[in-house]
Amino acid sequence: MNPKILIAGGSIGGLTTAVLLRDLGYDVQVYERASAALQERGTGIVVLPITERYFTENQRGDDGRVSLELADWTYLDHSGAVISAQADHFRFSGWSTVYRALHEAFDPDRYHLDSEMVGFDQRADGVTLHLGDGRSVDGDLLICADGLSSTARSILLPGVEPTYAGYVAWRAITPEQDLSAATLGALRDAMLYQVLDHSHILVYAIPSPSGSITPGERTVNSVWYRNYPDDGHFADLMTGIDGERRSGTMPPGMIRPEFVDEMRQSASETLAPPIREVVLACHEPLIQAIFDLEVPRMVFGRVCILGDAAFGLRPHVAAGQAKACADAWALHDALIEVDHDLDAALAVWEPRQLQLGRSAVANTRMMGHRSQVAGSMVAGDPAWKFGLWEPGN
Ligand SMILES: Cc1cc2nc3c(=O)[nH]c(=O)nc-3n(C[C@H](O)[C@H](O)[C@H](O)COP(=O)(O)OP(=O)(O)OC[C@H]3O[C@@H](n4cnc5c(N)ncnc54)[C@H](O)[C@@H]3O)c2cc1C
Repeated sequence: MNPKILIAGGSIGGLTTAVLLRDLGYDVQVYERASAALQERGTGIVVLPITERYFTENQRGDDGRVSLELADWTYLDHSGAVISAQADHFRFSGWSTVYRALHEAFDPDRYHLDSEMVGFDQRADGVTLHLGDGRSVDGDLLICADGLSSTARSILLPGVEPTYAGYVAWRAITPEQDLSAATLGALRDAMLYQVLDHSHILVYAIPSPSGSITPGERTVNSVWYRNYPDDGHFADLMTGIDGERRSGTMPPGMIRPEFVDEMRQSASETLAPPIREVVLACHEPLIQAIFDLEVPRMVFGRVCILGDAAFGLRPHVAAGQAKACADAWALHDALIEVDHDLDAALAVWEPRQLQLGRSAVANTRMMGHRSQVAGSMVAGDPAWKFGLWEPGN
């Protein structure tokens, strides 16, 4: 009988693990807390090769890709003049585009919505997963890909929590149809960066919601890192128009108008013209609070944690998704390496992924410090690059 793998959390980490282990012949079931398919994170992401590896190796679509490529990494000054332009190829997409493609690649009858993990019991050779509606499911291995606020982590490692980094990313998306010809020209093949006082912003095109990558029809994504000290300012910012205090993401339409007005005022005064136009064209931005998280262990008998549940990376190297996918691929490779002995595979997998997670957290913390605290980020720095293992990779 094929080992039964239970996965709690059906986002990028959980779904990548699900398709990979399903393809190895395991009996995989995914339990996702949300009651509807996840389409909420309507923002852009940088796609590193490991994030798309499942599609490129399985030739989904024409070339397997779920992203578009931009060829230039351009820094502007306040007037919009180019300070530095480097030829550098990176790929970009929407979070929902990647999620949708993975969701389609998995089996709908094995993806269970409205299924919140609330606990589990372990035996030497298996685990029982408990769900919020009273159901229990037995399996040989439970993989918890339940994100930064992981239930599994709070059970397994009480007290190991994400730490607020002192700043947030204001994120906005805008259809290219809403932008001027001059701004479309600046964004055609380039990702635009601007270094500000203890802050920075980047802007890039992603496929439109319908998947178009034709310039003029795409969507443009902006990410603006701004400091909000943890002395009441941050809590205030993260308390929405409905009075609810959010911890990680403040959804579009929920940010209090005084904060949106202040952000827009600052955009008008400080941003380069094409970047400013993108930011001001979006009337319902969202806020992503920036955290660090690192765990001392990822394997606990027949339960393991991966992706954001284990290591939360600041987004400067654009590798949160890549890290979740790398954890999934490493587990896939470890299972093959030890001829599908689950315990041996976990023993091989854990030290490698702990090392990767620790080095990625340290690197992104250092980058965030340079930009937001020390103010030593330099426009055109060739080492400021996306990458999980190293800049560019
Ligand atoms: C706005 C935004 C923009 C981002 N941009 C980038 C980017 O450009 N590049 C990049 O690499 N990364 C980016 N990230 C980070 C990236 O989305 C995450 O790193 C990535 O999705 C990690 O995947 P994950 O599966 O580990 O966790 P998550 O995506 O957080 O998924 C966790 C899943 O578990 C579910 N869940 C939670 N608790 C339970 C439970 N108890 N039971 C069952 N299910 C549960 C949640 O509903 C969710 O679906 C961004 C994140 C955000 C919020």
